[in-house]
Amino acid sequence: MTYLLHALTERAGEFIRLRRDIHRNPELAFDEHRTAALVADKLEGWGYAVERGVGGTGVVGTLVRGTEGRRLGLRADMDALPILEASGRDWASERAGVMHACGHDGHTAMLLAAARHLAEHGRFDGTLHLIFQPAEEGGGGALRMMDDGLFERHPCDAIFAMHNMPGIAQGHMVMREGPMMASSDYATITLTGVGGHGAMPHKAVDPLVAAASIVMALQTIVSRNVDPLQPAVVTVGALHAGQANNVIPASARLELSVRAVDRDTRKTLETRIRELVEMQARSFGTEADIQWRPGYSVLVNTQPETEFARQVALELLGPERVTLQGQPLTGSEDFAFMLERVPGSYVLIGNDGADTGPSCMVHNPGYDFNDGNIAVGSAYWVLLAERFLAAQEPGAAK
Ligand SMILES: [Zn+2]
Ligand SMILES: [Zn+2]
Repeated sequence: MTYLLHALTERAGEFIRLRRDIHRNPELAFDEHRTAALVADKLEGWGYAVERGVGGTGVVGTLVRGTEGRRLGLRADMDALPILEASGRDWASERAGVMHACGHDGHTAMLLAAARHLAEHGRFDGTLHLIFQPAEEGGGGALRMMDDGLFERHPCDAIFAMHNMPGIAQGHMVMREGPMMASSDYATITLTGVGGHGAMPHKAVDPLVAAASIVMALQTIVSRNVDPLQPAVVTVGALHAGQANNVIPASARLELSVRAVDRDTRKTLETRIRELVEMQARSFGTEADIQWRPGYSVLVNTQPETEFARQVALELLGPERVTLQGQPLTGSEDFAFMLERVPGSYVLIGNDGADTGPSCMVHNPGYDFNDGNIAVGSAYWVLLAERFLAAQEPGAAK
């Protein structure tokens, strides 16, 4: 597939400039108006039928060829983060305190580069949906697009996405079937007791002591209730109670972050946290109120679509640049919601430069997307679209 890599490398300059333009003008979740307009205008210019304003600032570009009925969705994300950039690049953010620190500028540019190539040279038979979503960074933009009828108006037989990753060589791809990214849930626990004088604890009900015991008891969930071979995290990130040394406070508050890389483990964590907090609180005579806020789901790549994506990556890059079954990560990604509705696969593409060395981690003020990926990433999208919309079955690409 050197022909395809060659063709997209020749055109990469245009999309590297576009990526840097988006980088200079970052926009936060659901505020991606400039980026969305830029994406929609480009797609329309290349002949795509475009729907704007899907789930807020989302954009869907559709291209139909031939008579074959298969439908493919490719997703990129467009939002930036509230970080003050310190990359030192010429194309650094011109909006103080807002930065493309997760490479979504690059994801958008890679999919646009593929969009142009597919419109001008694509050999496929079926329906191609290019989905540019808002608010991946905690805003749940994927869910908003789905609530707005994304898959009713633009049904897909399979859906794919790609994220860059520091710590992996540029242009190297990492695939994984099964759970790949963690769920992320949040809980606020309020313990109510009876305040009183610090000198007369027997006349009060002390929520602070109950809170301290609960913090320690929560540590036993991962060590005693979760399969030792399953990753899980229960972090108490905040504990607020009391103000003075001689006053027993009337209430205490705990804030929890809870993660799992398996749907059953996620349920176990919630069940055990609720049981443990309620019973511990009662044992101290306090009342517990638990506000559980579900965040992103576990991202689970389906087997046939992941095997299909592997064959595409192998054909494009060869075995030395493809990891067939990587490790799961404890980060979260709202593409997980799309994968609960439509089968598909999420892959990683390395961000470390051969010359520039290890990349700053995503969400670091010094991070920048590796422009070497524009050609490789867009070539992957083009080949995947041509194979998926030509083959009869996923996995038929050889
Ligand atoms: Zn991010
Ligand atoms: Zn990201």
